[in-house]
Amino acid sequence: MTEKKRWHVVLDPGHGGSDHGFGTETLVEKDVNLAVCSRLKTILEASGVDVLMTRTADVDVEPIKRAELAHAMEADLFVSWHCDYLEDEVVSGVSLWVGDHVEERYMIEFDAIGDAIVEATKQIMLGVFQDHDNVLSLLHVPAVMIRGAFLSNEEDHELCKSPNFLQAQAQGTARGILKVLHRLSLIE
Ligand SMILES: [Zn+2]
Repeated sequence: MTEKKRWHVVLDPGHGGSDHGFGTETLVEKDVNLAVCSRLKTILEASGVDVLMTRTADVDVEPIKRAELAHAMEADLFVSWHCDYLEDEVVSGVSLWVGDHVEERYMIEFDAIGDAIVEATKQIMLGVFQDHDNVLSLLHVPAVMIRGAFLSNEEDHELCKSPNFLQAQAQGTARGILKVLHRLSLIE
């Protein structure tokens, strides 16, 4: 009998320390990112996943350090959490992003994470997009960035202050991550 594989996931709360990310007078992205990732860590660990965070406090972490952690852990999945911000304050919802070198099949897999989030939060799923990112582009393991809400949208902004909302986002994300981990292990 083979031993059941324990999955390794790295959670990456975007920004930190001197790098605030997007923000308003009452809410800063780096804090939202850490709050969601901390909740997500608890839920994933309860499901038997080994989780490492690239930061657990309000500190600066270089992109290369975030990537090195994922490679050292031989992570099955790297999940970066961010918020979004647009001048058009009407736009709200969740989007997922992959680096510019990623195969299309991963974009299809990661769609499941977005679906699981919006099932839990009743947000809008905007899609999975590909772009250059200075963390994701350094990674040689499956990696996705989730932009959980628009701080430029009044409703999303208020939601990000609600512990219930952040918990729902974390629960939905955990369900999606577990689904993707199963599927990736079947493919590889
Ligand atoms: Zn960000």
